[in-house]
Amino acid sequence: MPNIALLPGDGIGPEVAVSAVAVLNAVADDLTFEEHPAGGAAIDLHGTALTDEALAAVKASDAVLLGALGGPKWDTNEPGAVRPEQGLFKLRAELGLYANLRPIRPLPALYDASPLKRELIEGVDMLIVRELTGGLYYGERGTKDGRAFDTMVYTVAEIERIARAGFNAAKSRVTSVDKANVLDTSRLWREVVTRIHADEFPNIELEHILVDAAAMKLIAAPRHFEVIVTENMFGDILSDEASMLTGSLGMLPTASLGGTGPSLFEPVHGSAPDITGKGIANPIGMILSGALLLRHGLGREAQAAAVESAVDKALEKGIRTGDLGGTATTAEVTEAVLKELT
Ligand code: ATP
Ligand code: MG
Repeated sequence: MPNIALLPGDGIGPEVAVSAVAVLNAVADDLTFEEHPAGGAAIDLHGTALTDEALAAVKASDAVLLGALGGPKWDTNEPGAVRPEQGLFKLRAELGLYANLRPIRPLPALYDASPLKRELIEGVDMLIVRELTGGLYYGERGTKDGRAFDTMVYTVAEIERIARAGFNAAKSRVTSVDKANVLDTSRLWREVVTRIHADEFPNIELEHILVDAAAMKLIAAPRHFEVIVTENMFGDILSDEASMLTGSLGMLPTASLGGTGPSLFEPVHGSAPDITGKGIANPIGMILSGALLLRHGLGREAQAAAVESAVDKALEKGIRTGDLGGTATTAEVTEAVLKELT
């Protein structure tokens, strides 16, 4: 009986968590869910973004399903203040989740919801593998006397493991994105990725692209990409750019993998305070995160594929929340997906 740690979090997190749990329970009858507050919800109750008790439960679980953390209520510029996002950084670090997988698969039924032309996005099926626990976001930083700095650090071992995650996820081609014409970290990145490729994955095609060129190509020729592997900040920026291929931020799931314990699954979107409490959030990103949990967290490919196919079918029949130009509620979309599962 797999035990799922459920952290609904804040904003629309709890609203879309209900949808994902309903769909998971419909496709698998042996899951148990243990719910804990996280982020702002945990700050309100316990004064910390993730309690020791919740962290212990997470570590003892088989997989973690997270809604969203944060919101205007807890926004503050006060130095030393407790912030909801600390819960997420703590989780990633404690679980050692260095590989963030972001599949971008625009559905034919939603080609019209993208700002890009249909001819460009038809058939796009890419995966961005973003390094999640190193680089610029985790380096030494500081501000002093009108001068500020951030440092980007990568070790050979950190690059090796994310490169392997990228090659393992690829069927035929990996695009490694860096800025090797300028940055030393990127030169090391390119060197290590090239070596791992030659030694361990010679049957996969490897290409190196500079991040600025990659940003352009994502829009000009998105079908070119199968697996993109890149460092933390480049991956952050490129995956938001790529999300527009699918029409809405509310569509995208992610999996954070790599630790020795459970992996973490969450939608790409945040807590969406502007629509919180209205029952109109798009639950698809969260439902598809549930599918990734089945696939990568529990090794249940058939059940994962069943969820994805139910989502496709429901959307093909025309149901849409507001972010996709429709009028359906969160509950109605969830019902439509559940109907395709039975
Ligand atoms: P956070 O700081 O938690 O990321 P945010 O203010 O940046 O919050 P996001 O959640 O990132 O908000 O959302 C950005 C925009 O996309 C908002 O207008 C939000 O309403 C919309 N949005 C995000 N997720 C969804 C969703 N699941 N369904 C509908 N709209 C969404
Ligand atoms: Mg946001």
